[in-house]
Amino acid sequence: MSAIHLEHLAKRFGGFTALKAMDLRIEDGEFMALLGPSGCGKSTTMNMIAGMETPSEGRILFGDRDMAGVPMARRGVGFVFQNYAIFTHMTVRQNLSYGLRMTGRPKSEVERRTLDMAEFLQLTPLLDRRADRLSVNILQRVAIGRSAVMEPAIFLLDEPLSNVDAAFRAVMRTELKQLQRQFRQTMVYVTHDQLEAMTMADRIAVMDHGVLQQVGRPIDVYNDPANTFVAAFIGSPGMNLLRGRPVRTDRGLAVDLGVLGVTPPLAAPQARAAEQARGEVIYGFRPEQTTLAREGIASPVSFVERIGARSIVHLGDGPAVFKAVFENDVPAAVGDVVRVLPHADAVRLFDAQTGKAL
Ligand code: ATP
Repeated sequence: MSAIHLEHLAKRFGGFTALKAMDLRIEDGEFMALLGPSGCGKSTTMNMIAGMETPSEGRILFGDRDMAGVPMARRGVGFVFQNYAIFTHMTVRQNLSYGLRMTGRPKSEVERRTLDMAEFLQLTPLLDRRADRLSVNILQRVAIGRSAVMEPAIFLLDEPLSNVDAAFRAVMRTELKQLQRQFRQTMVYVTHDQLEAMTMADRIAVMDHGVLQQVGRPIDVYNDPANTFVAAFIGSPGMNLLRGRPVRTDRGLAVDLGVLGVTPPLAAPQARAAEQARGEVIYGFRPEQTTLAREGIASPVSFVERIGARSIVHLGDGPAVFKAVFENDVPAAVGDVVRVLPHADAVRLFDAQTGKAL
């Protein structure tokens, strides 16, 4: 069984808590991304799963087997780090086959699996090239192949793509996903890049300051963030978060955003949430879930980023700033006042005190 169960897992370094009691169940064959900003405790969690760090509290189970005291070498995990740990004096073939040779597999099996993995990762033409003659991109591909060829039931990857260039990263995102589909490993993938997590993972565990914030499918953390941290961290740009106060208008419940005026009426579920709110709320909407319309929130354009297919329009000033994403040819220029209408069904409300979704 290669499900991974973290039970109240915590890690302290002296007086500093890197991970607060975390409960997480990663299913057999699931691709789980641990996502969060630098220092949030992702690698610490991963290192404890691998057996490189000892938990301060809690348990790690693989299936129903408690991993306490089981050394890394006996956990049956494959591990790929940000810095490709490969033997530079060996060829690609020697690197790929290293683990299989060390475990004394028959020569024919070592040969077959090495060639299959080389083919899968498009390394066949480079098999006899020494590793010190490879680019950073290819080195990381070899590092992934060297671990994957062992067909570990659990595959742990810690920021494996952060050193490779952007175009190659896009290629590798697809390849890693295919690799996992082919071998059906349980994959745990540490990243601070929400795009990587969104495109590859079956589920994402979002972390901040050593605390698990939300676990869910990419579409769920995008559509229904549990709090303002997740709302702002997921998406590029993140969700707009504007402070306001629920008000009754003749068209229904809305939010008074102060200098930005009163929003259009809330859809029924958000109106019910607003009714429960005590005091101020955070009015959240995604920049890409908006249209320009007469009844929208009026605000001056401060900047327009034209990024090819889309334009990101920056609006407002001071604390009341937000963004809207439109087609590239949107008629908006700096200084214009435009009216942005958030899609009513996509508006989300949060408690202004706790940041939690209402
Ligand atoms: P990054 O991507 O920057 O590594 P991360 O989310 O993976 O971020 P961790 O490496 O897990 O974060 O670190 C979490 C916190 O624990 C950080 O503040 C880090 O400085 C601290 N930390 C990690 N390892 C140790 C250690 N051995 N001793 C003391 N503090 C540590």
